[in-house]
Amino acid sequence: MNTTVSKQLFAKAQTLIPGGVNSPVRACKSVGCDPVFIKKANGATITDMDNNQYIDFVGSWGPMILGHNHPAVIEAITRAMANGTSYGAPCELEIELAEMVIDAVPSVEMVRFVSSGTEATMSAIRLARGYTGRKMIVKFDGGFHGHADSFLVKAGSGVITLGIPGSPGVPDDIVKNTISIPYNNPAKLEETLRNPDLEIASVIIEPVAGNMGVVHPAPGFLQKLRDLTKELGIVLIFDEVITGFRASYGGAQAKFGITPDLTCLGKIIGGGLPVGAYGGKKEIMSMIAPTGPVYQAGTLSGNPLAMAAGKATLTELKKPGFYEALNQKAEQFGGELLALAKKSLGEQVCMNQAGSVLTLFFAKGPVYDFDSAMTSDTERYGHYYREMRAAGIYLAPAQFEGMFFSAAHTSEQLEMTLEKTESVFKKLA
Ligand SMILES: *Cc1c(COP(=O)(O)O)cnc(C)c1O
Repeated sequence: MNTTVSKQLFAKAQTLIPGGVNSPVRACKSVGCDPVFIKKANGATITDMDNNQYIDFVGSWGPMILGHNHPAVIEAITRAMANGTSYGAPCELEIELAEMVIDAVPSVEMVRFVSSGTEATMSAIRLARGYTGRKMIVKFDGGFHGHADSFLVKAGSGVITLGIPGSPGVPDDIVKNTISIPYNNPAKLEETLRNPDLEIASVIIEPVAGNMGVVHPAPGFLQKLRDLTKELGIVLIFDEVITGFRASYGGAQAKFGITPDLTCLGKIIGGGLPVGAYGGKKEIMSMIAPTGPVYQAGTLSGNPLAMAAGKATLTELKKPGFYEALNQKAEQFGGELLALAKKSLGEQVCMNQAGSVLTLFFAKGPVYDFDSAMTSDTERYGHYYREMRAAGIYLAPAQFEGMFFSAAHTSEQLEMTLEKTESVFKKLA
């Protein structure tokens, strides 16, 4: 595969932008190659600057659940754009998207829109601290909640694969207010939350983890977390930036029937434009300025193009049978993928799948937390990634991520992917 133009662009980008990229994982460092630069995307196909085509299983890291360039989304953006791109003043589209989110997500009675998932999570913990008057935040090892200072403690894929334990530039004074404990360990959870010295404001969790690769919550774990936080007056935050409108229309909370106090959203609700949101109980959300004293603001928050893209996306997702069809397609693919992997690589691979996202770990498994995820052979994942990309299959350039399916993947594309994958597994064996 000829990637001359991408190579030239990457060389130039590196002189202008740190590492040549605006988000680290894109640099493909952990998979031992250079990135390709994208020219365009349509459906489940992306095309690089050398005009190579790939079947895309990254989907911009989750947002593109309808596929790229979906006509209803493009039409909505185009229509909104004709009226100007930003007002810095309220507009009706914000109300319309808010209504849809509140209607869909059980915990959300009021919602505030921001411009990224990072903004949503950092604002949600500020709110939780303001509401409780306490300062400690509990997260889980391998949980990723964006790049705000408080969360850069054992923080999942991007941080792990760069080999940075936390991050320089984050003061100890800040991270000492964050405790990270193992995912799926109820004893450790209870011991931590019941520790009277800790003054815990909030627990934040990905209800299905997605940034140490896909990891399911063990049966009963989320319920125990809900029961304990309720008893102890701790604000429970579900970070549903990936799972929101992916695990189901109402997110993982609707699927599992467990309602947190606050929810963070992003990715899908922006339909491919920059959006985040946090929402929850009226009583807590009313603490945000201007109704309350907890400050949070944004020049482009509630941007009309982003609201229009989000509304058009949710309108498609709400159609009957959308998730059944997508999950069925993805699960059938997943089953076949795992069978092929086992045939060539036996005990050296395992897979976790949650509906339309899966991770193939180059590890014996089972993978149920950060430490078990870390037993993966990342060198081998790098080899797999490079071979797959050369075969026209575009996967996440890091082991601890997901393979994302969209409504746009055709059965021909999925069959072709399995065929190519089978020969790549044979090479890896
Ligand atoms: C992507 C992600 C974020 C951060 O969202 P950005 O829009 O990249 O800032 C936060 N939490 C989770 C679970 C994510 O996957």
